Amino acid sequence: MTHKFHTSTLTAQASVATDTSYGAVMPPLHLSSNFTFAGLGEKRQYDYSRSGNPTRDALGDALAKLENGCGATVVSSGMASLTLVLQLVDQGGLVIAPHDCYGGTHRLLTSLEKRGLLRVLFVDQNNQQELDVAFKQNPALVLIETPSNPLLRITDIKHITNLAKACGAISVVDNTFLSPALQRPLDLGADIVVHSTTKYLNGHSDVVGGAAIAKNPELAEKLGWWANCLGITGAPFDSYQTLRGIRTLDIRIKQQSKTTETVAEFLEAHPAVTKVYYPGLKNHPGHAIAKQQQFGFGAMLSFEVDGDFAQLSQFVDGLKLFTLAESLGGVESLIAHPATMTHAAMDEEARQTAGIADNLFRISVGLEHADDLVDDLSKALLLLNKKSTFARAG
Ligand SMILES: *Cc1c(COP(=O)(O)O)cnc(C)c1O
Repeated sequence: MTHKFHTSTLTAQASVATDTSYGAVMPPLHLSSNFTFAGLGEKRQYDYSRSGNPTRDALGDALAKLENGCGATVVSSGMASLTLVLQLVDQGGLVIAPHDCYGGTHRLLTSLEKRGLLRVLFVDQNNQQELDVAFKQNPALVLIETPSNPLLRITDIKHITNLAKACGAISVVDNTFLSPALQRPLDLGADIVVHSTTKYLNGHSDVVGGAAIAKNPELAEKLGWWANCLGITGAPFDSYQTLRGIRTLDIRIKQQSKTTETVAEFLEAHPAVTKVYYPGLKNHPGHAIAKQQQFGFGAMLSFEVDGDFAQLSQFVDGLKLFTLAESLGGVESLIAHPATMTHAAMDEEARQTAGIADNLFRISVGLEHADDLVDDLSKALLLLNKKSTFARAG
């Protein structure tokens, strides 16, 4: 058995001192689209950057080690990683997906289903009855996303991957919301992990990228083959940036999670906040499972407030440190309003079924000091519900 290093050691050391040309300590950025042949019929390790590139491979190697997989395919976006794993489903095969999966994933699955390429069943993966019905239908692939977006629902990875194994389906976990620093699905029974590296892995909101990491060599090989065939492999420069970003992954996300716990407790105690969704809170329905399968509760949180649209708008305008924007996982704190932003494509009825209220906000907590973030929220919340504030003051 080889010794398994901790996340921070793996990222600090990834491809360090491996350059054989000049002895560069940090792995160089190889932008070249093509590589020389040593002679006629003598291909070197690399020939063409769509098929293989040393900088992209350095990132893939790091991601495979972080997720405890045996191979990673680095692609151009999180959606590309989902496109990639769906190549493993034969024509007309069944995909089981969470009813509250990422909006882009939902759109991809329904669009491919419309063209007859696959069939999809969206189920509440916390509902055993729905799971039983779905798993009886011979699924080819099961997609899990935990914690979910935007309500941070927790799914038991071991339980679902066991159901998948029992019927020979491939299990895939989208680990974007936690990263391998806080959750390692392959160790919990999954076959493949996918990522939008755009989020915590790169962590600096300046790259769009993705990756798929496989537990066994055959799956890793298939994914690599398809990524080259489809032409969706990641760019060398993006890989270089992302490798630089993940060097601080562990320390970033742990600090961000710690701050989020403080923010969650503050919001929960605030009179203008009617509900807080954070797996770190003891009253969250997924708290026990999260504690078991995660190494931390993460830095994403959602909450509902008391107020009409004009007041919600004043609240957002009043924030100085939370920027109104989509995406997540960067060093800067962000706030999103799912009903008008990330989940606007869903009709009102679908949003209501999913439990996404009009007064719901989602925040991605960055690396700012917890006191400053709480202070910022505290001041802006005064603008939200003047009534209750005055009542309190009196
Ligand atoms: C952002 C995101 C994606 C899509 O990733 P892109 O890099 O934007 O293509 C997929 N899944 C989850 C959970 C995400 O948050």
